[in-house]
Amino acid sequence: MLRNVFKRTMADSRPQQLIARFNAVNEEVLNYATQVGNNNVSLLAVSKLKPASDVQILYDHSVRSFGENYVQELVQKASVLPKDIKWHFIGGLQTNKCKDLAKIPNLFAVETIDSLKKAIKLNEARAKFNPDADKIRCYVQINTSGESQKSGLLAEDEIFETVKFLLSDEAAHLELSGLMTIGSWEVSHAASEKNHDFEVLAQWKAQLDAKFGIDLKLSMGMSSDFKQAINQGTSQVRVGTDIFGSRPTKS
Ligand SMILES: *Cc1c(COP(=O)(O)O)cnc(C)c1O
Repeated sequence: MLRNVFKRTMADSRPQQLIARFNAVNEEVLNYATQVGNNNVSLLAVSKLKPASDVQILYDHSVRSFGENYVQELVQKASVLPKDIKWHFIGGLQTNKCKDLAKIPNLFAVETIDSLKKAIKLNEARAKFNPDADKIRCYVQINTSGESQKSGLLAEDEIFETVKFLLSDEAAHLELSGLMTIGSWEVSHAASEKNHDFEVLAQWKAQLDAKFGIDLKLSMGMSSDFKQAINQGTSQVRVGTDIFGSRPTKS
């Protein structure tokens, strides 16, 4: 008897726990943003490897923007969850997966554009499979740490040509939103005043804004370093663990 009551209480507590954690992170983001004078920061809830039921709980709490890393998982979740969710793809982009992504009508953003070729592919696939859907907001991913195992563009000419394409009439189904970086783990855990990767991304923004006459957003900062990112001018932080708890390892 007692045990049953206990079980039910435990099961019921996931929504409460999740909402409390989301509220705490959201408040921290807003408070810190106000404190450092960055009044344009949004919070992306990164739900990768977490069940669709978790996303639904936050959706029912008025959260609409979620980040996912794996194409098949995103396709699956998008098919069962409400159609006004704004899905952000933040995982490693593969050319042969652009088609599956473009087919998701409410795919809001792809934050990991790391080659001109993939941008062209994504645009073509959107034109073919979802011509009337919203344009996909694109972020050019920059490798700010210079680590060879990190994805993202490093070479100036490739960054220029990708941005140029995204701004062109040719990219009719895409819209350039900004720049994204993940940054190195070491840097984000170092106790220094400024995060070098975030600094590099902000410098790219300044350079590209001036060259093309645009105003790029920045997507940088995760659970371990989002305050630093807010301090260094990010427009969006991507937070998973602090909201949803630790993740199972990807099988
Ligand atoms: C997983 C992931 C996040 C969220 O990371 P946490 O440390 O769990 O907050 C953010 N951005 C990208 C690109 C990710 O892959």
